[in-house]
Amino acid sequence: METKGRPSVALAFYVLPCSLFSKVISYFCAMDKNVIETLRKLTGKRDARVLIVPHISPDGDAAGACSALWQVMDKLGVECHLMTCDYFPEYLKWLTRIPDSVSYQQHPIRCKRWLQEADVLFMLDHNTMAREGDLEPFTREYKGNVVMIDHHPDPDEVTLCVSDTRVSSTCELLYDVITSTWGKEIIDTDIANALYTGISTDTGGLNHNSSRPETYLVIARLLEAGLDKAYVHEELYQKNTLSRLRLTGNCLLNKLEVDENFPVAIIPVTLQELEQYHYKDGDLEGLVNIPLSVESVSVSVQVTERKDRVKLSFRSKGDIPVNLWAKTHFNGGGHLNAAGGQLQLPIEEVVKKLKETSGWFFGEIIKMKLSSR
Ligand code: 5GP
Ligand code: MN
Repeated sequence: METKGRPSVALAFYVLPCSLFSKVISYFCAMDKNVIETLRKLTGKRDARVLIVPHISPDGDAAGACSALWQVMDKLGVECHLMTCDYFPEYLKWLTRIPDSVSYQQHPIRCKRWLQEADVLFMLDHNTMAREGDLEPFTREYKGNVVMIDHHPDPDEVTLCVSDTRVSSTCELLYDVITSTWGKEIIDTDIANALYTGISTDTGGLNHNSSRPETYLVIARLLEAGLDKAYVHEELYQKNTLSRLRLTGNCLLNKLEVDENFPVAIIPVTLQELEQYHYKDGDLEGLVNIPLSVESVSVSVQVTERKDRVKLSFRSKGDIPVNLWAKTHFNGGGHLNAAGGQLQLPIEEVVKKLKETSGWFFGEIIKMKLSSR
């Protein structure tokens, strides 16, 4: 939910070693000195070793945050690694340091060793280790300091949790974290480009979740620091392949259906179609937003068949909380207007379940509206 202006409650965070969970204190105040001091201490230790992990299927916000934070660690002379449970998509590989990341799928032993050796594990752009895919059992076992920087509701308990659900993106929040901790001079063009990538992609190009003035103040500071906006836009939005255009065309022409009873658009995409159009990660980015441009559509859901599961992407207009639908019926969660989930069922069954639960979902919305009157 967006609010106007930055109230004194800017961050929710928890500062304590993991072993002292029983004594976890939650603070609700502006970027607290404790956050700054803890981060300086954790990364300032002699020979400190930092490990960064984004969420599964990393998007622009996760990649931008990982890129920016690793570059900051480079500037501080701190040894740093970036590991993923799967892979960064090709369209984000231009971001500095992203090509140097290591996938657990390719190098499990190296990733486990990094975990054993790390003094600090940064969880970026996700609120729970449950979103770290096959890495989860190992990160859960990790005994060192875990720092989460994120903007999703209900964060897990970690050593230091910097979480604000009102920001546009993890990258917007990370700008505040970086500049308050290490000074704004540390931001150069490549770091600014990375942070802007997260702000731009998580808001659909400053379309949704971007009505707070603070978001634009951060962009202004990034421009002052050398952000190359034209270059970032070109990399993110002006690089289509013919097969991507054809896949999008097929989805909109032949796959998109609008429910008869509810304002819901569904786009089911099968593995066979992905193969037919030579799908690469990122090729379907943004597709789910398109049906929302139809006035009578309030919720859009993309249902994508993967090898081991079916992935759902929910988007909505206004105050329709699609994260509730994703969380209750599709093992997922996320934000009010952008959520996701997954099921291990045949794609036809997933689409059937969406249709069967539409009535429940819109019933819940009506109940919520009535009770808030
Ligand atoms: P997307 O549709 O772009 O994959 O995801 C939109 C948002 O939904 C993400 O920013 C993330 O917050 C959330 N999300 C996506 N997939 C999952 C999931 O499997 N579990 C949870 N808890 N959140 C998800
Ligand atoms: Mn994000």
